[in-house]
Amino acid sequence: MSNRLLTVGSLSARPGEIQFGVYEFPVQGGVYRLPMWLINGKEEGPTLVVTGGVHAAEYASIAAALELGRSLGPANLRGSVIVVPVMNMPGFSTRSIYICPLDGRNLNRVFPGNPKGTASEQITDWVFRNVMKQAGYYVDLHGGDLIEALIPFTIIFKSGNEHVDQTSLEMAQVFGIHYLVRSETAGSTYSTAAAAGIPSILAESGGQGIWTPEDVGLLTNGLNRLMTHWKMIPGNEPAPLPYTLLERFLWLRSAHEGFWYPAVAVGDNVKEGSNLGCVKDYEGKVLQTATCPADGRVLFIVSSLAINNGDPLLAVGA
Ligand SMILES: [Zn+2]
Repeated sequence: MSNRLLTVGSLSARPGEIQFGVYEFPVQGGVYRLPMWLINGKEEGPTLVVTGGVHAAEYASIAAALELGRSLGPANLRGSVIVVPVMNMPGFSTRSIYICPLDGRNLNRVFPGNPKGTASEQITDWVFRNVMKQAGYYVDLHGGDLIEALIPFTIIFKSGNEHVDQTSLEMAQVFGIHYLVRSETAGSTYSTAAAAGIPSILAESGGQGIWTPEDVGLLTNGLNRLMTHWKMIPGNEPAPLPYTLLERFLWLRSAHEGFWYPAVAVGDNVKEGSNLGCVKDYEGKVLQTATCPADGRVLFIVSSLAINNGDPLLAVGA
């Protein structure tokens, strides 16, 4: 029996207890409300932190985090689990794409934040210090945004810490989504956690505002496989699944405001130098051609006809 109290801010759960609460903290003079579950197992074990809704319209991620918080009891749990189902609460109610409407910034680019910074920096600072730093393992759930189609994939960070990178890779393999892709993007949830020594993955499923049982199930199943693997919940070691590791995550962006015409579909195999689509103006004149940067697979595509200067168009894993 553990005697370890699980605490986030003023919320706490004793061993064998589950607590749901909405933690309130100040952000830019207002009150930020962050719902979360603290699930403290009777027995001592690893601490898993799960976040969803960093991007507030990636609904499969939010639905999966809600399902985990509602269904995971402390009775048979070894260790503890903290679930934050919707990190970007202002974005959720306003159905924002990519950003937090309090300051127009992408939470997943400003970790580990800054207590004296803008709203997004204050939110990420609070979450990083009070929640994510408690993790022995960290899983951030995402999907395609309202205007993004994708095939499921799991991202891991190349932190340079061999133990962390190897454990993150093992987590991605156990999670069970077929495509794994390495990224070197700093400022993200999983990359900041990994740089702080916490093995981490970011899993993507669903998109375009749709959250089918299959999309959600892929994420809940992955979480269950991980917790079984760590013997946090009862069950046999999950069977290994085949996977493909893509070493490069190559994003193409629009250099214009205009109209986006993709020439490929998500999941397509693509060849270096091939045409992936184009951005046109009102008259149909081609402003930009998206040329495939390497042989690989299309992991996500922006499905919106409207495109802005600097917006992502699609990404290839290679
Ligand atoms: Zn996302």
